[in-house]
Amino acid sequence: MSSHTNRNVAFVLWMTTAAAASACASLRGASTPSLYETQQSVERYIDSGRYDADFARVVKSASGYLESRAAHVTRPAIVLDIDETSLSNWPAYKANSWGRVVNGDCDIERGPCGLRAWQASARATALKPTLDLDKRARMLGVAVFFITGRPSNLRDATEKNLREQGFEWDEVILLPADQSFPSAADFKAPERKKIADRGYTIVLTMGDQQSDLTGGYAERTFKLPNPVYFLP
Ligand SMILES: [Mg+2]
Repeated sequence: MSSHTNRNVAFVLWMTTAAAASACASLRGASTPSLYETQQSVERYIDSGRYDADFARVVKSASGYLESRAAHVTRPAIVLDIDETSLSNWPAYKANSWGRVVNGDCDIERGPCGLRAWQASARATALKPTLDLDKRARMLGVAVFFITGRPSNLRDATEKNLREQGFEWDEVILLPADQSFPSAADFKAPERKKIADRGYTIVLTMGDQQSDLTGGYAERTFKLPNPVYFLP
């Protein structure tokens, strides 16, 4: 190959690489949705009823599993997460255009709405399929445990909220004061182990985050949809 041809090949390669890099850059730009588009898409998913349908489908299979196992195990129990599993905080998230604002006051009408202040106000509404699961579990003589990453200073408000929404339970386990974990699983799985060590058979655990579920100590796990936030 002559040096002239070599130069041509090198030039074509450079052009191809540059074109590919440019195409990738524009693809990345095109495939990254704007925050506005994401907010709209979340709102459509929830307002259209698709979220409720997806949620109900998961609880239905959890319910079927509960029915099949409750009579066949020693001291049957279920473990439920609270936020976006048993109680819905969507009004608070909607007030923040679906952003997760943890601290500060909550102005639910005009926003912003701090999540902790919202939870302290005990105004979250029951997610009906989970409420039905809770009632069915109690009817079958199955113990119900809530394990939540809510801080323990929210115990009274949380129990009030759950009670007023119709839930019944054996125990609510909250995140101990001044403790934090790299993942919710590092708190929740050991709490499930403590329940199992007391002689219960946890037939299922259900939550909207994968970190609610990993780490064992439940026969089956059921992952609910959450289009709004992710917790490690
Ligand atoms: Mg949750």
